[in-house]
Amino acid sequence: MAFPIPSRQLYIDGEWREPIKKNRIPIINPSTEDIIGDIPAATAEDVEIAVTAARRALTWNKGSEWASASGAHRAKYLRAIAAKVTERKDQLAKLEALDCGKPYDEAAWDIDDVAACFEYYADQAEALDAKQTSPISLPMDTFKCHVLRQPIGVVALITPWNYPLLMATWKVAPALAAGCAAILKPSELASVTCLELADICKEVGLPAGVLNILTGLGPEAGAPLASHPDVDKVAFTGSTTTGSKIMSSAAQLVKPVTLELGGKSPIVVFEDVDLDKAAEWTAFGCFWTNGQICSATSRLLVHERIAAEFLDRLVKWCKNIRISDPFEEGCRMGPVASKGQYEKVLKFISTAKSEGATVLCGGSRPVHLKKGYFVEPTIISDVSTSMQIWREEVFGPVLCVKTFSSEDEAIELANNTHYGLGAAVISQDLERCERVTKALQAGIVWVNCSQPCFCQAPWGGTKRSGFGRELGEWGIENYLNIKQVTQYISDEPW
Ligand code: NAD
Repeated sequence: MAFPIPSRQLYIDGEWREPIKKNRIPIINPSTEDIIGDIPAATAEDVEIAVTAARRALTWNKGSEWASASGAHRAKYLRAIAAKVTERKDQLAKLEALDCGKPYDEAAWDIDDVAACFEYYADQAEALDAKQTSPISLPMDTFKCHVLRQPIGVVALITPWNYPLLMATWKVAPALAAGCAAILKPSELASVTCLELADICKEVGLPAGVLNILTGLGPEAGAPLASHPDVDKVAFTGSTTTGSKIMSSAAQLVKPVTLELGGKSPIVVFEDVDLDKAAEWTAFGCFWTNGQICSATSRLLVHERIAAEFLDRLVKWCKNIRISDPFEEGCRMGPVASKGQYEKVLKFISTAKSEGATVLCGGSRPVHLKKGYFVEPTIISDVSTSMQIWREEVFGPVLCVKTFSSEDEAIELANNTHYGLGAAVISQDLERCERVTKALQAGIVWVNCSQPCFCQAPWGGTKRSGFGRELGEWGIENYLNIKQVTQYISDEPW
């Protein structure tokens, strides 16, 4: 599809600015492998200017609208952004489909979620005003005490490419609701819609410096941003490897971080399920968005009594998934997002084979697609817990399978991972679901489903999937300082 990609600059202090070093990064359409535009590449010099602008926006003086704004005032901007996102839904969805290969319909749902998330945090910003004065009861009546919830300061928001605008929104919306000033560094592989968010902020008149958007490479733009001494907090979503680097640099300055990292989430299918429904959730849980979801349930544990029949139906299901250009009617899977990702996914599959696993379906590029980074949905069995395919995150459309014979064994296998983001349990026995849910080491457990996500509910992981929670009322807490205010109210001398 030919659709114009707007040519943009960095967005700093409410203005478009060419990067100091004037470098740009090409945008490659993963469906065609063509270069379709470029984005500016920020470096440490641009980071410096953006951090200064953000600090200025937060500095308490007569001219600073943002520093003195109430939650209700900030909410107006969030609602205006939500309205503009909705107005530009078709354009934003098309840009995400072109930039990272998402089926257009899916991209359009993501944009709806973006608008809903800005609306939700507008409500949270308003609710914050009411919480500012609530008293804390003390054991002595000579004192009174309350808590102020104030913005944590200048925040660095670093995000990945799988849900480009949505992952950015999960951070931008609560950060602005809390009253912070932010610098967003989206992934160099999918920044186009984040630059459109900058355009929207300009249109709605968000005060200068409140949200700055720096596109660029991780080591050149992300690293100097995360380690900048005048950044008060880093919120990061991405790989565990990068998250660990960010945590190390933050430790030097005792800077708070929240980390939403990788996963290798299990889906446990018990022997009492409706086989077709369970197959559908299993396929959805692993192949939605091409498996490029941190919480993709990419390890299937299925009861040995139903395994053969279940896998048969699952393979049939996968063979019917329509893989095509993201703009084709009925497309359910587009290409994976980049050449690097395509090569990585195929390497995972070949390593699994060389380690003795069996490919039940998929395993390569679909024969009807000659160009683009397309990979078939792939199911791998005969897997042992020492294999790479069991242990490491693929972040692509690859499901590995093991069988179990008891509930205890299922739980042990499900928890047999360094990660702890999502998990799903499928069974008609709801008491069993409850027991298993409690035993699973994960931040999110889905019962009789996999992957639904709502901005009202907390999101985040345990173990090497990171820490901290985004979304819901927890999401805004990431961006607040809790200040105790205690006043002596007696006339008696202390
Ligand atoms: P990545 O770690 O390669 O990059 C993420 C971001 O960090 C990008 O903006 C990148 O430019 C930046 N970056 C890279 N090196 C950096 C450095 N040294 N310092 C600062 N910033 C740096 O991850 P990715 O490939 O973009 O995304 C895929 C990963 O994200 C997967 O592991 C996936 O599981 C994870 N993810 C997690 C969640 C979650 O909610 N837990 C959601 C989406 C994706």
